Amino acid sequence: MTSTDRTFDALVVGAGAGGLFAAARLTNLGYRTLVVERLEHLGGRASTRDIDGFKVNNGAIVIEVDGITQQTFEEVGAKFDVRRPKPPILYRIGGKDIDVTGGGWGFLLSKLTRQGAKLLNGLGAARSDDGLPDHELSTADWVRKFTKNENVHGIFRNMCGSVFAVGSEELPARVFLTYFTRKSAFKKFGFCPEGTIGIWRSLAEAITAKGGEIWLSSEVKALTVAEGKVTGAVVERDGEQIEVATRIAVSDVGPAATVQLVGQEHLPGDYLEQVRRGDRPCAMITVNFASQERLVDVPGMLSFANTRRLCYVANFTDTCPEMAPEGWNLYVGTSVPKPAVGAFDEEAEKELLLTDLREQIPGFDRARILSWAVTKDDWPPQRAVAGFDLPNTTPIANLWNVGDGVKEYANGGTTACAETAKLVVEQIAERFPVGAHA
Ligand SMILES: Cc1cc2nc3c(=O)[nH]c(=O)nc-3n(C[C@H](O)[C@H](O)[C@H](O)COP(=O)(O)OP(=O)(O)OC[C@H]3O[C@@H](n4cnc5c(N)ncnc54)[C@H](O)[C@@H]3O)c2cc1C
Repeated sequence: MTSTDRTFDALVVGAGAGGLFAAARLTNLGYRTLVVERLEHLGGRASTRDIDGFKVNNGAIVIEVDGITQQTFEEVGAKFDVRRPKPPILYRIGGKDIDVTGGGWGFLLSKLTRQGAKLLNGLGAARSDDGLPDHELSTADWVRKFTKNENVHGIFRNMCGSVFAVGSEELPARVFLTYFTRKSAFKKFGFCPEGTIGIWRSLAEAITAKGGEIWLSSEVKALTVAEGKVTGAVVERDGEQIEVATRIAVSDVGPAATVQLVGQEHLPGDYLEQVRRGDRPCAMITVNFASQERLVDVPGMLSFANTRRLCYVANFTDTCPEMAPEGWNLYVGTSVPKPAVGAFDEEAEKELLLTDLREQIPGFDRARILSWAVTKDDWPPQRAVAGFDLPNTTPIANLWNVGDGVKEYANGGTTACAETAKLVVEQIAERFPVGAHA
């Protein structure tokens, strides 16, 4: 390999959702792009592994349809194989599984409480900017202004958990209301039949087809900085340390880890303090289970009004039978611990999730448990609590962050990652046009 082979227009650190969305956009615009990923597989916290023929996701399970995610696939010419369950989600209220498709919030709230109309008015008011509450008010406190009904609080708590991976006490009402009145609002989504890793494989194909490179099992040890700019990286690959040169760097490892790669000495104190304060990862607990008997009679997601911790159960195999060996059903149950940010009692939280699953899913005890995962700290469901994200820019002019530590206001998950990539690549195209020299 000659030294020119290791000179790239853009280096992307990490092949998670944010990194791959950014690399796909960059290669599509003609930037010679290298993606370096330390794991042996694509997708980071939205990947999938095989357990005895079951395609078990390690993080993201639902992928938004018709929004920025799908648009990115279409723009870069990648196949978008996501199947939508119909209806996407049912809500278990008073022992019945209710489809609110079409009727929306009005219908949902009317099933829960006679105070539904007041809450609906509150939601309506939030559609105008003046009607949004202050950043300090939590979602739980906002709901309390209208009702004490436990089922209503349960639904809001589980929605905060499902979309933002925090409890309703931890999420600003302003974020919740912005998401549900102005954003995708958890309405159109589906599963990838290969498991979530399937969509990243397809994006990776689009990247390499246009001359981009993806190095798996390779770790960026340091980003090299000279005269206030990133000039390259030291990469450990096949047991060797090699140097690559780049004009532009995009990091998908989260702002705190990016600081470590750059070295604190290259960054101003106020930025370091901002990153330290913003480093507030959330937590989730998931149990993947399977059964030959049908345990969950919904086509996609089931959310709950009245659980201790369980936010949702998803049934994959109605829409994607390929995800399990023939004759088997594959499910996941997910909870958000209390608190979702900071230390919690792991064993007690797992027990609460199990108790909920036993109560809500008759036959759960006969199911085969495929895996348990407590995702937190440096492998969190969201690297920053929505509403407390850092900017995607850094004090270094040719270094950006993408991913769920730098989300736009009131967005979450892989959708937010797609959005950060779009915004970052737009800035790159403006400041460092393809072919121009920095
Ligand atoms: C249990 C759970 C359920 C979730 N459910 C959903 C859902 O249903 N829908 C949804 O949209 N989102 C969901 N999410 C959130 C979603 O998974 C994340 O928001 C998203 O995957 C984050 O992607 P990212 O690119 O920001 O980071 P990551 O996925 O963390 O990617 C960063 C990558 O960088 C690599 N890396 C780190 N350091 C280095 C280095 N020095 N050199 C090279 N590589 C490095 C890592 O290995 C990793 O692959 C869920 C998350 C969890 C954990």
